[in-house]
Order: sequence, then C-alpha cells, then structure tokens
Amino acid sequence: MSTESQFPQRARVVVIGGGVVGCSILFHLAKFGWKDSVLLERDELTSGSSWHAAGQIHTISSDPNISRLQGYTINLYNEIEATSGHSVGMHNTGGFYLASNEVWHDYLKRERSKARYMGLDQEFISVEEAARRHPLIDPRHYIAALWDPLDGDVDPSGVCYAYAKSARVHGAQYFTHTLVIETRQRKDGSWDVVTPKGTINAEHVVNAAGLWAREAGRMSGVHLPVQPMEHHYLITEEIPEIAERMKSGERLPAGIDYEANIYFRQERNGMLLGTYEPKATPWKVGGTPMDFGHELLQPDLDRIADRLELAFGRIPALGRAGIKTVVNGPFTFGPDGNPMIGPVPSLTNYWAAVGVMAGFCQAGGVGKCLAEWMIEGEPEIDVRAMDIARFGDFATPDWGTVKSSENYERRFVMTFPNETLPKGRRQKTTALYDRLVAKGAVMGVSFGLEHALWFAKDPADAHEDPTFARNRSHSYVAAEVAAVRGAVGMIEIANFGKHHVEGSGARAWLDRLLAGRLPKPGRVALSPMLSPKGRLAGDLTVSCLAEDRFLLLGSGTAQEMHRRWFQANLPAQGVTYANVSDALHGVALSGPRARDLLARVTRDDVSANAMRFRDLRDTFVCGVPVTLLRLSFSGELGFEIYCSPQYLMRLWEGLEEAGADLGLQPYGARTLMSLRLEKGWGVWGMDFRPDYTAAMSGLDAFIDWDKDFIGKAAAVAERAAGPKDRLVTMLIDTGLDVVGDEAILQDGLCVGHVTSGGYAHHAGASVAMGYVRADLAADGMALQVEIDGRMRQSRVISTPLHDPSGIRMRG
Ligand SMILES: Cc1cc2nc3c(=O)[nH]c(=O)nc-3n(C[C@H](O)[C@H](O)[C@H](O)COP(=O)(O)OP(=O)(O)OC[C@H]3O[C@@H](n4cnc5c(N)ncnc54)[C@H](O)[C@@H]3O)c2cc1C
Repeated sequence: MSTESQFPQRARVVVIGGGVVGCSILFHLAKFGWKDSVLLERDELTSGSSWHAAGQIHTISSDPNISRLQGYTINLYNEIEATSGHSVGMHNTGGFYLASNEVWHDYLKRERSKARYMGLDQEFISVEEAARRHPLIDPRHYIAALWDPLDGDVDPSGVCYAYAKSARVHGAQYFTHTLVIETRQRKDGSWDVVTPKGTINAEHVVNAAGLWAREAGRMSGVHLPVQPMEHHYLITEEIPEIAERMKSGERLPAGIDYEANIYFRQERNGMLLGTYEPKATPWKVGGTPMDFGHELLQPDLDRIADRLELAFGRIPALGRAGIKTVVNGPFTFGPDGNPMIGPVPSLTNYWAAVGVMAGFCQAGGVGKCLAEWMIEGEPEIDVRAMDIARFGDFATPDWGTVKSSENYERRFVMTFPNETLPKGRRQKTTALYDRLVAKGAVMGVSFGLEHALWFAKDPADAHEDPTFARNRSHSYVAAEVAAVRGAVGMIEIANFGKHHVEGSGARAWLDRLLAGRLPKPGRVALSPMLSPKGRLAGDLTVSCLAEDRFLLLGSGTAQEMHRRWFQANLPAQGVTYANVSDALHGVALSGPRARDLLARVTRDDVSANAMRFRDLRDTFVCGVPVTLLRLSFSGELGFEIYCSPQYLMRLWEGLEEAGADLGLQPYGARTLMSLRLEKGWGVWGMDFRPDYTAAMSGLDAFIDWDKDFIGKAAAVAERAAGPKDRLVTMLIDTGLDVVGDEAILQDGLCVGHVTSGGYAHHAGASVAMGYVRADLAADGMALQVEIDGRMRQSRVISTPLHDPSGIRMRG
C-alpha cells in the first residue's frame, strides 16, 4: 500500500500477518487509540488461510465468552463495511443448528440456556418451520432446530480488506509484500522487526501469522503448539430450487447438522457444504513453507465420502446437483480448538493471536480483546478460554499436533461434561500414576498433569460412560464423600499451582500485589488478588514460610497466568519469584480421623493446640521432608502435605499403611468438588474469574482495607456503590445436576447464570453456585435454573449445608 519512503522506523505495535486476525487487531488498536500501529504482510493481504475460507459465520462455541465475542464479531461487520467503504459480502440469512437425536437436542437446549444470559437471541423453531425456511433439508432426519438470527456468511477477502482499510481510516498503516525475517528484542524490551524494506523498532510485537504462526514464533524463541490441518468443502453446480428462490431475492439460511458432521449454506445459486473429516490430516507438521502462496491442496474426496453420503440423505438436492468446486485448504488449529491470544509468558511485549480456527466468527472478538489487553492492561471480559497461558511447557509442538488433530476430528462431535479426551494423555504424570490406576482411579487431566477424578472399586470398572445425566461415578463419589465426612480420605494435590516468593522485599511486594492481609511466619491466610480495575486475578492461599519467604497456592490451571502476572509486576531487586508447581507435589488428608492418622506418621506434635487451623511448618511425615499446612477444602479437619516429587510415593505409601485401620479412602477431584459445594466455597476458573469482582464473589471479606493494593480504588468504589451481581449458592429441585453456564431466571426473566454445581452427597441435595442480580441474593429467594430446557425450582441459601460454624474444620 505505501511506498518505500514511507516505511516507518518506529511504531507502537507491529502486527505480523495480514489475514483476518491481524487485520482485525490492527483495526481495533487504531480504533481504540493506538494509531501508530503497523501491520506487515509478506504477500497480499489474506495470503494464508483466510482467502479460501468458506466464510460461514455463527455464534455457538464451547465457551460462553467466546460465543459472546462471536456475536460481537458478526455485529461488527456493518461497522467495518461503513468505515472502509469496502463490502464484506455479508448475507444475514440467519442459521440453524439441527439435532437428529435426543443427545444433540439436549446439547442445543443447553446452548439455548447459555445464550439467554449472553444476550444472544437464539430460539427453538419447529422442524417444520426449519424446513419452511430451508426447503432443501429433509425434515424427517431431525427432531429439533435452534435458530440464530445472527448466522449467515461473509466474503472472506472482503472482510480482511474492510478491516485493513478501516484501520487505515482510524490512522494505522499496513504494508504488503513485506516479509518479517527476524524479530530481535532490545534491552529496553522493545523489538526490532526486520524486513527487506527496513527495520521497525516497535514497543510491541503481535504474532498473527496464521499458517506461519509457528515460524514467526520461532523467530522469538516461542514454540507454539498449533497445527495447520487440511480441510475440505465443496460448492455445487446450480440447484434449480435455489435459482428459483433467488428470483425473489430469497436466500437460504446457513446450517450445521452435528450428527452428519456438516455445515452448509447457499453459495450463489448452489450450495456450499463442508465437513470435518473423521481422520484429521495435519498439514506440514515440520513447518509451513515460506513460499506457500495462494494455493489449494489436492482434494481427496475419499476422506469425506461417508460424510457426503449422509449429507446427500439429509439435503437430497445436494446429491442431485453436480459438484462445481472442491476446496481443500489448510487452516490452523490449537490443542483445544480455541484461539491462543495474549502476552506470551516469559517474554515481554510479545503477543500472540494464533490458532484462530474460525476467523470469520472470532477475529473481531480476538482483535477487540487483544487491543484492550495491550492498551488498557486487561480485556473487558474474561478471556481465559483463549488465553495462551492456559498452556504451559507441556504443550510442546508434538503434543500440539496430536491434540489439534483430535480437536479437528471432534469439531462437531459431542464432548460430554464427564468426558475426558483420550489423545495426548500421560504427557505429565506424578510418581503415583500407576498406583492410583491400579487402585481403580479414573484419571482426568489438568494443565497437562494426570490426576484422579474418582476411584472405582475394581480397576476393571474404572471407566466413564459419557453422558449429561448423573454418571456412573455417582455412587463411587458418594462412598468417597462418606469416608471423608466419617473417617479420613486422602487426595493427591500435585496439580495445585504453587509459587515461591523470596527476598528482603518479598513481604512488601506481596502486600501490594494481594488484597488480603499477609500472614505471619508459620501461618497461612487466604487472599484475593485483583487487577487494576478491581476484577479477580486470583484467589491464593498465602503461606509464610519465614519473614522473607512465601509459598502461594492457587489454581493449577491458572499457574502460567499467575506467573505472567507476578513476573510483570516484579521489582528490579529484592524479590525472587518462581513457579514451583512441578517442584512440589503432595497429598491432602481430610476427615475427623485425619489428625489421628497424621500423628501416627510424624514425630511432631500435631494436636489441636500445637497445630492450629492455618498453621504451617517444615517437618517430616512418613520419614520424608515436607511442608505441612493445616488447611481444608473439604470442610473437615484437614492437612496439606507438600514434598519434592521424588518423595511422593513414599509419603502416599506411608499414609496408606498407617491409615488402613482408620477407614482411609483415596478420593478424587469429583469428591472434592462435592465436598466444597456443601460449604459454599467457590473455585477459581468457575465461580471466581476475571468476569467478577471481590464484592461480587464475596472474596471482599478477605480484603485488608487499611492498606494499599492493586485494584483498591476500584474495589473501594464498588464497595460504596454495591455490586450489581452476587455469588449465591442454591438448592435445586432436580435429578439432573447443573454443569455450569445454565441460565438463572425469575418470572421468565434471565437474572443470572450458574458457574458450577453438582450433587452434594453428604447433604443429599443438588447444588449450584452462580451469580444473580444483587437484590435477589437473599436467603430463601425462589429462582429457576434452566437445565435441559426445563425450568427447575431453586432456592438461594445463605448458610452452608455442612458444619456452618466451621467447628469440624477448626477443631
Ligand atoms: C477450507 C477452509 C474453510 C474455512 N471455513 C471457515 C468458515 O466458514 N468460517 C470461519 O470463520 N472460518 C473458516 N475457516 C478458517 C479461517 O480461514 C481461519 O480461521 C482464518 O483464516 C485464520 O486467519 P489468520 O489471520 O489467523 O491466518 P492467515 O489467514 O493464515 O493469515 C496469516 C497471514 O500472515 C502472513 N504472514 C505469515 N508469516 C509472515 C511473516 N513472517 N511476515 C509477514 N507476513 C506473514 C501470511 O502471508 C498470511 O497472510 C476456513 C478455513 C479453511 C482452510
């Protein structure tokens, strides 16, 4: 676009890549005020996967906030068309999601419930109505259709140009035929971005290199676990029925048929049909060639023959029409199918916006969030599901190829709430893995690390049957809960996040970083951590090992997000920080006999007076060196015992041997979740996340208002005004427990949403936690929770179901 002489030497931001993602980022940066942003594209704009996309747009996604952002993306198209004067080729046809069996119908009911609180306008229409809107589908195959008026299609190339030109209207620049060949970081943290046209010194670099994200990452030492995949769609010859409708300008709606694994829409006077092959074909595993241009790959219809047959049954006109074009093109997937965006941990001023597999549904949201993050320091909504830091060093390129392939294959395949996906497993294990499996553990995985979900009596019985209903772990979890409440249970806690902070400045630094009161040496305290805007950035258990040494315990899945936050705020001297999650494994004991068991395996005095609730000490348990904390997430008398990984097996064996006659029972994560619900305790990532504040979540109870801390001004303001929503616990009259993201209603109006829940076995009740309008957060308030399309009566409770006075935990 610009001439050589205009090529800048400095910029606030350089965005690498002029696909739909890079163009959207440039647009948002410029619109939000960072006008000295520059995009560099090695060829013409849209020279990666963007130009050959099918251009179908829809709102449904696995994560509610991503769905919300997909709605934002679609709604943005009119704006960028108007700003740029460049058509995005939008067809606002609306679209439907078709269910051909009860399982998919259940799924759609859940999506409908989510949509209520996300402000999306989805509604069920009858199958007859679906067939009226799209006369080419054979309604006999379907039992339900969920309609979304936002769905439709766009012209991929038009969208990219409309973003780029709008960015230019807002003051940014883009340069085509400008290959970035090197990114070098200077001592001041800025980046020299080297191209054949010259070098730009930029404060920030954004990797939006799509098909070449891996190559662009490697220039800066970042090894991204993303993988381009081959993908087919085909376009038919003219279909007479469509040509006839088009005479009156009537376009067919877009659609997704999950069971047949197809997406479809009208394309000119024919149809476009795409499918995710049952066996993924990763493309260029070793790296994307730099000279790959506007090329397509050799189609292989055999790979999609079964799917086509299904499709021709469901939309018979497709089978009658000839195929005009078959497109096989590569596009990039991430390990869980969601984008990977945000500041790359361990680098400064280096941002990722990669693995965006549905760019025309998502790029607007990605651009908005990334620009807010860069300019404001945090995105407006919680983007954990897209945050690059949800992966750690376990997410190697090889693992990324395996998981991205799995995700591709499962794009339209149901994943049930109790299902754990099989690929890329045992990437990280602890010393206990074989032992737990031999005991009947059904394993789950979090942050790459295997951990027990529940224990079957017989290892041969240790498997899940994927379902939305109460699953086969139900009775086993009941037994584990009973053991913890009645005797003693033990759970491996290697998967918690652990952070070590040390130095003469450690206390003062933490005091400012955390909103809570810091404990004295030998004591433990809970503390929320807030963002500058007063939103939750963490809820941490702070253990003071010595005046200048702290161990912080937090969410395992958020450990890299927390590391990034700690490192970004680290002072130049006086404090050292390390994420020690993999260096400390451990076991938690819970239950009325926990102390009796502990006393058998340590020479220390662990009596109630010698080791009070929230005490900690370095000592020996089962003959191995440990850090022992008196804590509980079960609501019972409890201890957490941390050790180096090489001691974990001995610790576990020693406890097993000593606890056999006390009724010791190993338990898993499902039991822990059931136990904490009875106490009304929230969990990071579900009930506590950056969408909420301290006052909304109730974590303000732990704030030390007399000191200065990050986010204080916002927290004080909210305290004065009162939060608009509050976290509540509810009892629900249901045989089908919530899983999260269900709408909460009162008199037909959506007044909140569920964040977590399940069955509280000891109390014998179905429980949900969620956020509701603050005026409704009152004991006894009658509300409805929409589960499986039905409104279930629920009642807010303000007293924990178990041990409300806390005597069992503190005694
Ligand atoms: C067959 C097919 C059908 C699809 N259908 C849909 C659909 O219906 N709906 C939907 O939402 N999505 C669809 N997609 C996915 C969509 O195309 C992608 O999500 C989107 O293109 C990703 O955009 P991007 O900007 O991340 O990457 P890309 O489009 O790959 O853009 C990256 C850009 O970076 C440039 N670049 C790379 N390295 C450098 C460098 N070193 N220096 C300068 N420039 C560089 C490249 O030239 C390229 O232009 C489809 C994809 C395919 C292949």
